[in-house]
Amino acid sequence: MNYSSRSPAFSVSAQIDAFRRPVGLMLAAFVSAALAVAEVGKVEQVQPGIYFHEGDLGRFGHCNNGWIVFDDYVLVVDGNFPSGAKAVIPKIKETSDKPIRFAFDTHHHGDHAYGNQVWVEAGAIPVAHEGVVEEMKKYETGYYGGAPGRWEEAAKGRADVAASKLKPPTLLFRKEMIFDDGKKRVELLHLGMAHTRGDGFAWLPKEKILFTGDACVNGPYNFTGDGDIGQWIQTLEAAMKLGAKTICPGHGPVGGPEVLEDQHRYFVQLRAEVKQLVDAGKSADEVKSSVDAIKARLKSNPRIERYVGSFFSAQVEKVYVELGGKPFQARGPLFDSRTVASGRSRRP
Ligand SMILES: [Zn+2]
Repeated sequence: MNYSSRSPAFSVSAQIDAFRRPVGLMLAAFVSAALAVAEVGKVEQVQPGIYFHEGDLGRFGHCNNGWIVFDDYVLVVDGNFPSGAKAVIPKIKETSDKPIRFAFDTHHHGDHAYGNQVWVEAGAIPVAHEGVVEEMKKYETGYYGGAPGRWEEAAKGRADVAASKLKPPTLLFRKEMIFDDGKKRVELLHLGMAHTRGDGFAWLPKEKILFTGDACVNGPYNFTGDGDIGQWIQTLEAAMKLGAKTICPGHGPVGGPEVLEDQHRYFVQLRAEVKQLVDAGKSADEVKSSVDAIKARLKSNPRIERYVGSFFSAQVEKVYVELGGKPFQARGPLFDSRTVASGRSRRP
């Protein structure tokens, strides 16, 4: 995700506190006994040589990381913010003395890719689907010789970004890229547009573990501003066909296949709710005034309740616009190109 807003009116940590308890109960119900419930900032060994680390989203805006230890090197999933990369590198080194050779950006957002320079300095090559660079060319105009873009905006609010520099991924794939040393196998896959145009998954077919980036989150973290919810649903369906037993999401705790199913279910129900209004010929104002009612209905479904959060109105608007409607939020989309990449909101 790319949540920019850290204002009191939009307290991510308050949301996290609010959703953590029910999720804890759900995880206890759904996750196999072998999988401990992840804890923010704690390294979790998902399987031997395969690790998951839930980033400190509430305090630092960090994304989750994963890493896979191969015979000769370590492949890391997600670039994180510079401070997130710096926080996790020593933890990786505690689990392996192999060099960190590759850092896979699941997408272009700052909390997943702005740490690339830190990985490069640690000896790794940033890897991504080519759509990540295409998105960077669109939004990181400052890097490509144009007007200041998202990086410069983020640097105003984040010392770690200000002290580093943008390093777009340099090892790119179109459909997939495979790392295989005969013991471990990781397939980096692009399954279509979802959270962004450049989303990549890291799939471990032997262990049936899927690292999803923000194409799948586990909690109220679905930022939809750079995505397409209609296509996102299809991409999630393609991901579900892989048959993963463990889902390591971009934000929120690790879980079983239900995490992917619930993320899918959330968007399907959200879209159905908005489509019903569109089909009934409702105006933008009428859709806007239905937001609370839709929210209440989604919250009444225990499988998707935890996905409903402060992005909700923007998510309803996003679906409405995708279905041909006009934006209805008074100040435009909650996250626009000026605020989307920053670590905190400039808005009250
Ligand atoms: Zn994101």
